[in-house]
Amino acid sequence: QHDELSRSSYGLGGKVGRVPVGITGRRLRIVVTGGAGFVGSHLVDKLIARGNDVIVIDNFFTGRKQNLVHLFGNPRFELIRHDVVEPILLEVDQIYHLACPASPVHYKYNPVKTIISFSTNVMGTLNMLGLAKRIGARFLLTSTSEVYGDPLEHPQKETYWGNVNPIGERSCYDEGKRTAETLSMDYHRGAGVEVRIARIFNTYGPRMCLDDGRVVSNFVAQAIRKQPLTVYGDGKQTRSFQYVSDLVNGLVALMEGEHVGPFNLGNPGEFTMLELAQVVKETIDPSATIEYKPNTADDPHMRKPDISKAKELLNWEPKVPLREGLPLMVNDFRNRILNEDEGKGM
Ligand code: NAD
Ligand code: UDP
Ligand code: UDP
Repeated sequence: QHDELSRSSYGLGGKVGRVPVGITGRRLRIVVTGGAGFVGSHLVDKLIARGNDVIVIDNFFTGRKQNLVHLFGNPRFELIRHDVVEPILLEVDQIYHLACPASPVHYKYNPVKTIISFSTNVMGTLNMLGLAKRIGARFLLTSTSEVYGDPLEHPQKETYWGNVNPIGERSCYDEGKRTAETLSMDYHRGAGVEVRIARIFNTYGPRMCLDDGRVVSNFVAQAIRKQPLTVYGDGKQTRSFQYVSDLVNGLVALMEGEHVGPFNLGNPGEFTMLELAQVVKETIDPSATIEYKPNTADDPHMRKPDISKAKELLNWEPKVPLREGLPLMVNDFRNRILNEDEGKGM
């Protein structure tokens, strides 16, 4: 029904001339897999705001309808409950492929979900590449800085091949994304699919999963709940944290640009986990305490993107430093935690 509506509105208000148009001259139609998730829902907001037709495919493994509820009823928006491990037939111009169980809690501790993560990265990516090939759509893969493993090169450039333990606890995610990159390049070289590869570094912002175990969501939720901030290991390991709107701008610049990549998309500002805990304390609760816990095996000691390639070829760089970005997610977290406490299960 939404589809009918969006078809009939193609010619409305002379808008077609002002928004990016697809090969047939109509408004761009874009699929976002994993669009009900944290990054995906922000991307969908941007695409809808600039006048595209957007179809979200999501199986709600970690995503939530609440992330998109403000778009329900919008004739340019469609939501399909579907697992990308199964084939699907659609007609679109661009595919942003984000679907992936990315939560460290899931992939580190539950072997069954580990397999789901790997099959989503392999079979899901294969299906989306098959779809892109059949309909001549441009395909963007959201890969990850985890392809660099525990890096021996610092900061990491796209030319670095990485240091991943193939039999470690984190391997299903790292190797799954490495395979997804391989498949994407094979379809590009072998079938001429227009491919774009983003290697995303740690990203945070509103709508992050509350309890998926990532460090920013853990610290922010803990500070709000008046629980100690759990620092794993000695807390001296580093990460570089990117605000979600910067990432979304980078993904769109990559999709619209002429370069395959891979491109690092991340904020080069580097913090130890203890420094991050300090920023969270300053932002939310100066009296928050720290509790040390054992770290997981193979945890990368440091991570920081070299983004010169994206700066030069995509004309992109992040704009929001950690101290400005963190406060922007606190209200969203407070509201959801409040709703959870009231039993609404948001
Ligand atoms: P998220 O868990 O919020 O979103 C992933 C979405 O994919 C969810 O809505 C989930 O329900 C959906 N999904 C999972 N398996 C699926 C399947 N088989 N079929 C259909 N939908 C499925 O995670 P996110 O942080 O928004 O991550 C989005 C993408 O960016 C992922 O590919 C992730 O690997 C990548 N990435 C994210 C970060 C980060 O820091 N957030 C860093 C590196 C890479
Ligand atoms: N596929 C899909 N939608 C399409 C086209 C293909 O889901 O519109 C799936 C298809 O089921 C297959 C995968 O993508 O599992 C790879 O397709 P491709 O045509 O490249 O490979 P083949 O089907 O020839 O093995
Ligand atoms: N971490 C932590 N406390 C937490 C969760 C994570 O100190 O409550 C650490 C974790 O050991 C890692 C870093 O924070 O060194 C980033 O972890 P995350 O899972 O967010 O991202 P990734 O390891 O995938 O970069």
